[in-house]
Amino acid sequence: MIGDRKADEIDETEPIHSAPPRFVGIVGVPRCGSTMVGSYLGLGGRAIFVGEATRFRLQYDRVGRCGCGEQIPSCGFWQSVLRHGGELPESDTDYSAIASILRSAIELSGASLLIDSSKSAVSALALAEHLGWDSTILMVVRDPRGHVISVHQGWRAKRTNDADPDWALLARVTGSWWKHQALDTWRLRIPRRCRLVKYDKFEKDPARETGVHGPLVDGEVPFNHSIAGNPSRKTPNRAIAGDVRWHSMPPLKQLAVFVLGLPFTAIYRYPPIASFSVGRRKAHLR
Ligand SMILES: [Zn+2]
Repeated sequence: MIGDRKADEIDETEPIHSAPPRFVGIVGVPRCGSTMVGSYLGLGGRAIFVGEATRFRLQYDRVGRCGCGEQIPSCGFWQSVLRHGGELPESDTDYSAIASILRSAIELSGASLLIDSSKSAVSALALAEHLGWDSTILMVVRDPRGHVISVHQGWRAKRTNDADPDWALLARVTGSWWKHQALDTWRLRIPRRCRLVKYDKFEKDPARETGVHGPLVDGEVPFNHSIAGNPSRKTPNRAIAGDVRWHSMPPLKQLAVFVLGLPFTAIYRYPPIASFSVGRRKAHLR
């Protein structure tokens, strides 16, 4: 199953219902851009992006918001899914019940491609096994400097435009990023069982980086019935965000994160310092 078919073999031209269901599991560290990648892949009429399916029970109990804006227990789509044979999971690791929800969701939607962004390699592999569909795992990787700035500024952010995190937070967040890369690489046995998607390349050319030519129009993505994920998933027609905020981080701290992130920062070919930081300094001097 996993690895039998690469993501670049997804054929968006096949008519609805004619193709067997396929599963794409997105893996990565929190704030890696998985929601944006999943939203992009879910653009096609034959695809459905469900967000973080493993959090269905948590979101159901908390009366969390669906990507469509409704509360999960009152969302018409998820109500239909539960009536159609989807079982309410006992927990976020009740993969049998979560798989039943995903089966029901793809049948009701008429789609043939289902994308989950639960981000855990363990859950992506478990869901692929339970579904028994042709499956692909996408590991989304974001520059650790972008990850550090994202944590520093917070989800709802924009609390501040400050791009100068303190050293303790910088070390802690980079360590977390490093651990995720190491564990996911080991669990997924890269590159044999998954496709690597670098967010900095995805933002520039999503079709090329994911291998899926979705009907993207003007770089915008629509709303969806995603279960959980980045709060921005509830914003319709959101442009794909560029990961540039970290370019304003002090160069010494950019370099420190690069060094702490080795060997992965070198493997992913991230620059030691943002290439246009010199240009930014010139702009300030004028
Ligand atoms: Zn909904």
